[in-house]
Amino acid sequence: MRTVLMVAEKPSLALSIAKILSKGNCTSRKGLNGACSVHEYTSSFQGQTVRFKMTSVCGHVMSLDFIGKYNNWDKVDPAELFSKAPTEKKEANPKLNMVKFLQVEARGCDYVVLWLDCDKEGENICFEVLDAIQSVMNKGSVREQSIYRAKFSSITETDIWNAMNRLGVPNHNEALSVDARQELDLRIGCAFTRFQTKYFQGKYGNLDSSLISFGPCQTPTLGFCVERHDKIQSFKPETYWVLQAKVFKGKDSQLTLDWNRVRVFDREVGQMFINLAKTSREAKVDTVIKKEKTKQRPHALNTVEMLRVASSALGMGPQHAMQIAERLYTQGYISYPRTETTHYPENFDLKETLKQHTNNPIWEEEVKALLSTGLNRPRKGTDAGDHPPITPMRAASEGELGSDGWRLYEYITRHFIATVSQDCKYLQTTIDFNIGTEAFSCSGKTLISPGYTVVMPWQGIPLEEAMPACERGDTFTVDEIKLLEKQTSPPDYLTEAELITLMEKHGIGTDASIPVHINNICQRNYVTVENGRKLKPTNLGIVLVHGYYKTDAELVLPTIRSAVEKQLNLIALGKANYQQVLQHTLDIFKRKFHYFVDSITSMDELMEVSFSPIAATGKPLSRCGKCHRFMKYIQAKPSRLHCSHCDETYSLSQNGAIKLYKELRCPLDDFELVLWTSGARGKSYPLCPYCFSNPPFRDMKKGMGCNECTHPSCQHSLNSLGIGQCVECDSGVLVLDPISGPKWRMACNKCNVVVHFFEHAHRVQVAQESCDACDASLVAVDFNKTRTPLPAGETQHTGCVFCDLVFQDLVELKHATMRHSIHRGGGARRGGRGRGRGRRGNLKKPKDKMAALAAYFV
Ligand SMILES: [Zn+2]
Ligand SMILES: [Zn+2]
Ligand SMILES: [Zn+2]
Ligand SMILES: [Zn+2]
Ligand SMILES: [Zn+2]
Repeated sequence: MRTVLMVAEKPSLALSIAKILSKGNCTSRKGLNGACSVHEYTSSFQGQTVRFKMTSVCGHVMSLDFIGKYNNWDKVDPAELFSKAPTEKKEANPKLNMVKFLQVEARGCDYVVLWLDCDKEGENICFEVLDAIQSVMNKGSVREQSIYRAKFSSITETDIWNAMNRLGVPNHNEALSVDARQELDLRIGCAFTRFQTKYFQGKYGNLDSSLISFGPCQTPTLGFCVERHDKIQSFKPETYWVLQAKVFKGKDSQLTLDWNRVRVFDREVGQMFINLAKTSREAKVDTVIKKEKTKQRPHALNTVEMLRVASSALGMGPQHAMQIAERLYTQGYISYPRTETTHYPENFDLKETLKQHTNNPIWEEEVKALLSTGLNRPRKGTDAGDHPPITPMRAASEGELGSDGWRLYEYITRHFIATVSQDCKYLQTTIDFNIGTEAFSCSGKTLISPGYTVVMPWQGIPLEEAMPACERGDTFTVDEIKLLEKQTSPPDYLTEAELITLMEKHGIGTDASIPVHINNICQRNYVTVENGRKLKPTNLGIVLVHGYYKTDAELVLPTIRSAVEKQLNLIALGKANYQQVLQHTLDIFKRKFHYFVDSITSMDELMEVSFSPIAATGKPLSRCGKCHRFMKYIQAKPSRLHCSHCDETYSLSQNGAIKLYKELRCPLDDFELVLWTSGARGKSYPLCPYCFSNPPFRDMKKGMGCNECTHPSCQHSLNSLGIGQCVECDSGVLVLDPISGPKWRMACNKCNVVVHFFEHAHRVQVAQESCDACDASLVAVDFNKTRTPLPAGETQHTGCVFCDLVFQDLVELKHATMRHSIHRGGGARRGGRGRGRGRRGNLKKPKDKMAALAAYFV
């Protein structure tokens, strides 16, 4: 029997699709990477009985990066990144072992059906999958087609079966357009980012960002926010005057009239008009106009509109909203949420879709009414040819979706019902008045039929008091007339919704990338999200944009990016050549880059105004090993130590607190050690500022603390304080935190595991000896006489924290049995699992002490 391999974009999708296609009769097993499952069943394919194997990837299999040495910031001139630096596709997440997994499953398969999401990214992943598996698949007869692509927009039976019955082929051009975008973003982004990060971080101490990034799309996005900020800053309020009249007739309530001249900017003129109006105590009705008006039902929903509403009405950021929408899609509740289309295809069964929602009490009535009177044709929108508009595909309740999931689903469903409802109709009444020689008016709306606003009440016509019945010639009594002094007010910061609109209007970003770019500028500390989801640029964001404007406005204006996106679309349509577009765009940016480097001083002048030179920032903390003067600790991200005398900057561990460590010094370089702590319950370890940036041993990498240091004789190193193999990860070692008492603990030097032990002991030390059973170092504990938990009132005990029975209840080892199989009885074999032979498990250290010493003295 032949085998058909089928691949979806996410594990949950593979399961849903397999359930549909196998009619619930598939058997499932975990794949070798633990993350993906394989669902198998027998059915027919192209007229023969075959074995189906449905599985998935987890998003992109590969990601683009520079080859090895070009990733070194210190050794590569960023200009080389435009053309000289070769790129390669690496596994996007090596831990998932995706290529191996796909190959194991594809070996011996005869056909492949690609069920990746139907957008350009999905098309790109199709080819990543094919690259991985084609070599191991069975070679069919030369003429036979073996690669198929399924096109679908929702995870429903109808859609999935339709896709299966109309298989096509993957679209190489669309995949290429994604490759081109990835390569452009990588080369341009990295070159600018590395150059300016190094330049400015070396000079200024209070730039609060680990990365001063540039992105061909991210930067114009930031540009919009700063442009608005500049408008607010340069705004000069102007005073103006308005005439306001209040009138009444008989017992009717008072009406406030608007002045037909609206406002004047000259007080004298305003005064003159009020004097003219005040000559009359009566307001005479000049005309009464009644007009029936229509508020149109919305267009069918696309991604950009969904994100706008999610932000402005539901208070959800675009990235968050997109994640929720994707979850709703993979669970089959809504159709594919990445689409530009606002038009339903002719054959779309709107009625069937609507019928699903007859049982939800919230909109039950409206839905039933529509089904009995007939659906209204949705408005004609734009058809981008990708997917149908975002549509609810299945009934749901709040309980099954969770709070945010439900709120978004509810909105999508209400929007859908609205698109097949009637327009809202109302009567607009406008009454024009004359008071003296001045003209005033007032108008009001009266609802005729609410139409779609029943399900979208926030768009409804507000209930207003009815306009008084009157006709031409009637008179009202003027109750009050006055001249109001007002000021023009500045615009407000851009809301997320407005930013999305601007990005869409200027053609930068796509439905897929808009949320990512907005998220990036928030995370990099260029804008903050204020009340009402308004985006307020930070000092750094403002200076950067102003700097680009000063050197090369095109770096921040949306024009170039939008032109590039157009070219990318042409690649996708097969109308432009991939290589040519790439080459041409890189040439332009390479020249821009050189100009930018040459003009960096003009940007620097702006920086100087906002940021302090590195030597003037920070607090004295620890001593430099070279000059023995105090170095300053710079807390702004990335936190660093700076010696102004030697003019050197040393990196530190991030995202924690740094303090001086007992004034102890590194025996290698005489720098004072500092202690890094990740918070009260987290781990802490000492590190040497010099060794951290300049690894002393060949087998050490940059960024290691003393808990990973293999110094043979240093009392703070892993060699002295390491206890045993981590209970959770493969490569980590649990290291005693020597200043954690009285709540003693040890922490893994690779992962986040923290193990608590020996509370209230006044001394805990790592002994020279190691455990016969598991190779861990023994630990010597010294308790206080009055509080000792040891049997028979003993105060001292030395033993293995994993194996010793006396220690058993004093150590909080959660998963210890996994690696230390002897622990806590359980009938395990003696001798452990043979992981690592030397003392302290397989510590990554030079083979023996002499070798280590030799390495040190080289
Ligand atoms: Zn120094
Ligand atoms: Zn050192
Ligand atoms: Zn050390
Ligand atoms: Zn670990
Ligand atoms: Zn042991």
